[in-house]
Amino acid sequence: MSPALYVPCGGDMYYHIEYDIAAVFVTLFMAYYIIFKKGIRRHDNRVFLGMLVFIFLAEISDIFGSLANNNPQFTYRFVQDFWNYIYLSTHNTMVYVFALYIFYLVGYEKAKRRLLIYMGIPLLIDLILLFSNPFHGQVFYYDENGTYLHGRLFFVIYAIALSYMVFLVYFVIRHRKGLTKPRTAALLFFMTISFVPVVVQIFFPMYLLTLFFESLGLMGILFTIESKDDVVSPTTGILNRYALQLALDRAFVGKGNSLILIKIPNLNYYNKTIGFENMDSILRRISKWMDETYDPYTCYDCGRGHFAVMCEGITDDVVDEIRNKTQERFEKAWGKGEFSLVFPVQFGVIKLQEDVKTIENVFMLIDAPFDGKTFTELDVTDAVKSYERGVLIERLIDKALKNRSFQVYFQPIWSYHTGKVNSAEALCRLVDDEYGMIPPDEFIPVAERNGSILEIGQIVFEEVCRFIKEGRLEECGIEYVEVNLSVVQCMSKNLKRSFDEMLEKYTLDPARINLEITESATAQNQKVLIDTIDVLKDTGFTFSLDDYGTGYSNISYMYDLPFNIIKIDKSILWKALGPDGTLGQKNAMIYLENTIRMLKDMGYDVLVEGVETLEQKMLLEELDCDYQQGYYYSRPIQKQVFADYLRVVNA
Ligand code: C2E
Ligand code: MG
Ligand code: MG
Repeated sequence: MSPALYVPCGGDMYYHIEYDIAAVFVTLFMAYYIIFKKGIRRHDNRVFLGMLVFIFLAEISDIFGSLANNNPQFTYRFVQDFWNYIYLSTHNTMVYVFALYIFYLVGYEKAKRRLLIYMGIPLLIDLILLFSNPFHGQVFYYDENGTYLHGRLFFVIYAIALSYMVFLVYFVIRHRKGLTKPRTAALLFFMTISFVPVVVQIFFPMYLLTLFFESLGLMGILFTIESKDDVVSPTTGILNRYALQLALDRAFVGKGNSLILIKIPNLNYYNKTIGFENMDSILRRISKWMDETYDPYTCYDCGRGHFAVMCEGITDDVVDEIRNKTQERFEKAWGKGEFSLVFPVQFGVIKLQEDVKTIENVFMLIDAPFDGKTFTELDVTDAVKSYERGVLIERLIDKALKNRSFQVYFQPIWSYHTGKVNSAEALCRLVDDEYGMIPPDEFIPVAERNGSILEIGQIVFEEVCRFIKEGRLEECGIEYVEVNLSVVQCMSKNLKRSFDEMLEKYTLDPARINLEITESATAQNQKVLIDTIDVLKDTGFTFSLDDYGTGYSNISYMYDLPFNIIKIDKSILWKALGPDGTLGQKNAMIYLENTIRMLKDMGYDVLVEGVETLEQKMLLEELDCDYQQGYYYSRPIQKQVFADYLRVVNA
């Protein structure tokens, strides 16, 4: 990138312009590639294009300048001057454009405007020295034969270019993390290769190698940094999530930047129904539409039908405009002919730094599954809060596991046939000294996601074994204890072995334990579930189906699985007869009555959860429901309290 080291070439020595001519072809090839192959819409491409323009001007002017300098006797002085000035000014400016390019890559172009301006000062000095040359003749001059010669100030210009390069090498190495390895390598390659001809030309000044080597270096950059193969989604052809990550690195440095999310739900479903190829082609259409419609903002394909648009310094009005356009377009179908689909879409605006503090959180929001039905707006604050709550719960679970502070409570189950409490459900409790009671509905799903449910399940199981053993429950009329089994536990190969070990340790009969499986679990992974239950059944466990009627309507699994008891979800009871005594719609009562009857006819024992009032208890008695569970009898309580309770109610 330094100015070609021109040494007076007097007598029979001529500047060789062949390398410059080759450089012109290399440059033209790069320009063609960028303009026609890749499109020049991206900003960094434009800066790169700027470098190409400058190097091209430098090449052309070097060729003509050298021809003129080789043949001053046949050339007008002003023509010779013209090319020399053009060459020196464009070639020196290129160093600065290269600096801009690097700044852009590390995200300085907005955040550190001032630095960009300071960086321009040496160039300005360069240009002032150069263009005042007609007055002082210290940069270059001609002898009486018209031979082009360098003056003293030429070396100042030379030194400035060199200092730019030294600084940029340092800058690139310092920012290597933000740049990523291949980018750092490409930039360092460019700079190194620009130094080579400087050395060569000290010995062979007539070979004008500089620009040729620089154009080769630029080509290296073009095919690594600019080719974008690593940052473009092969499916949709727009930038991918890796590119978004780089953009977010930059956006978090600046202020007032927003990211718009646009999600299409359930891509798997569409892939299966209309086939991958058709769906990909629809996604391509959507991406193309977004890319064009949201221009000048950049659109990213984050996978699974989730898109993001990076909006720097956007106003609310523009967001509204984008929202309206998106909603309007998504009300219409995408695709062609029989594969024309209307998608529901979820729209969200994340104010970076304000709503979300880390890139990790941004990706959490991007990846969170779509949960709306038609055009819905994502509540970013809510989503971030719930994510952060999840992270907190995860921490509290870890802490409770470490401190062995998980507790197991017991809730009595009342039998219609004996009029007594004949069993209990074990329910896990997480009580944190700082955050208080965390409800299982909140921590169980988190524990299922990160796998700690296996350990928790083990703790609950052991506590139940201990309880049965120590509490001499049989004497108080308790036949068995219900233990909830998570689907994640059912996936574990060690489940049977660990249960066996525990039963052995406490010398317990597995018939004393009834395992509850929720209806939602039966809706997924049926094969594994059936296998696990079969194995456990052989050990001697019995099973209940929990939360019956909560919406997983496929009941064919009930035929395959050996349930003894079906636990009807409290919502079914409450719809028929609420805890506050309100009678629900007539159909709700019919549904409850018939469900109980049907299940009994099928040979199951039926339990209804959520019995809170005497009216509910009496209703269920009328319906011949076998078991009842609910606050009317007792809330879940600690084991000592439960033992005292039994002594009173079962006396
Ligand atoms: P579940 O198995 O359906 O347990 C019944 C839930 O209903 C319990 O909530 C219980 O406190 C509550 N409940 C019982 N009677 C009434 C009532 O009359 N009114 C009202 N409003 N609620 C009543 P809990 O203890 O919060 O547990 C929630 C869920 O967490 C459980 O639902 C179960 O799916 C899960 N869970 C609890 N402990 C464990 C465990 O150790 N392992 C696994 N895998 N899941 C557990
Ligand atoms: Mg249960
Ligand atoms: Mg339940």
